[in-house]
Amino acid sequence: MPEMLSVPAGGGNGLRLKRGEQLRIIDVEGGQTGDLVAISEDGAHRLSSGRTFDYGGTIYVSTGNVLWSDRSSPMLTIVRDDVGRHDLLYAPCSLEMYRMQYGVTGYHANCYDNLCSAFRTLGIEPEPLPSSLNFFMNANVAADGRLSFSPPKTYVGASMVLRAEMDLLIALTSCPASTCNAGAPTRPLGFEILSD
Ligand SMILES: [Zn+2]
Repeated sequence: MPEMLSVPAGGGNGLRLKRGEQLRIIDVEGGQTGDLVAISEDGAHRLSSGRTFDYGGTIYVSTGNVLWSDRSSPMLTIVRDDVGRHDLLYAPCSLEMYRMQYGVTGYHANCYDNLCSAFRTLGIEPEPLPSSLNFFMNANVAADGRLSFSPPKTYVGASMVLRAEMDLLIALTSCPASTCNAGAPTRPLGFEILSD
């Protein structure tokens, strides 16, 4: 059995994924969204939501969809998805976002800082951060283009599995934005690296 690792509630974690290895992200307590950012180990490729929309022909990715790099190479393929709804539109929440949209005056935990810290522990400078896969986040686009959030469809024990198509550095964060988590307190996420 692979070792279950943790993304702390409202925090981040980083990992290396070799080509062919699979990353399983687990919603341990249910209803928790998070962000994933991938950068190739050599730093040349960065996750691109725009390329992913173009080559996949959809803004909603699930099993079988590929996450593409800014240089048009496959980075990750979703090989299993219990949830079926994720977001690739929004940038990771940031301190500026909490200040502008929620009136926060002091520091607020945020995905942007978590992702940057996770990459720095892996030895790479990530800024400016590329696109993120906001897994389990349930964002809706109305016909007129308006955006809204619905409660995430994820549940206790739900997971998604992504296969690396190149050697990758990956940062994960457990999103502390309660609006993305149906107003619930932030909870931890789990992950495993599967080598077969
Ligand atoms: Zn966030």
